[in-house]
Amino acid sequence: MGKKGFLLCVCQGTCPSFHEMDIFEVLNTIRRENIVDFVSIHPQLCADDGDEFLKTLMANKEIGKLFVAGCDPRMQQKMFKDAFKEAGFDVNHHFPVDIRNMTTEQAVDAIKKLIEQN
Ligand code: SF4
Repeated sequence: MGKKGFLLCVCQGTCPSFHEMDIFEVLNTIRRENIVDFVSIHPQLCADDGDEFLKTLMANKEIGKLFVAGCDPRMQQKMFKDAFKEAGFDVNHHFPVDIRNMTTEQAVDAIKKLIEQN
């Protein structure tokens, strides 16, 4: 089945869309729930070094599913598809969720729902 990973992407931490939530509390809560095998945060997955991060991470064949909380799911799919393709990771195993403009509690709920449903 493979390992489940969770990434939080936060538009460099400067975008007002993430100012209503405590991003480290979101990450810590998901860690404590033990519903994924690992969690990580990246400031800007859609930048060149974000591409490199995704390519390097997803080349690991032990990872079966990747959950990413950040911007709009369609934007994520469009921006990450090349990196996933290069890593040989099936794009259908990427599960995105939009958490912009949410509070800490709302973001945690949306992420937990995403993980539980997939
Ligand atoms: S991938 Fe989305 S959430 Fe992450 S930095 Fe780019 S626009 Fe922001």
